[in-house]
Amino acid sequence: TYTIAEPCVDVLDKACIEECPVDCIYEGNRMLYIQPDECVDCGACEPVCPVEAIFYEDDVPDEWAEYVTANIDFFDEI
Ligand code: SF4
Repeated sequence: TYTIAEPCVDVLDKACIEECPVDCIYEGNRMLYIQPDECVDCGACEPVCPVEAIFYEDDVPDEWAEYVTANIDFFDEI
């Protein structure tokens, strides 16, 4: 799955939402989140993010590793 990391916080550009073919990107209070079970790994969202907040799960920088969990937890809570 793809995941959204810290650069999205307080930006929420939403260009990714327009691109996602399966509509699996959702809006939280301060950032957007990718529903990991719905993401089909197409990669369409990654290049359109103006702040480069989107990464394939294996490519998330170490300092933002917690965001992989945050994306999963966001959907466990709703
Ligand atoms: Fe949507 Fe594709 Fe991005 Fe997954 S990789 S969130 S399916 S646009």
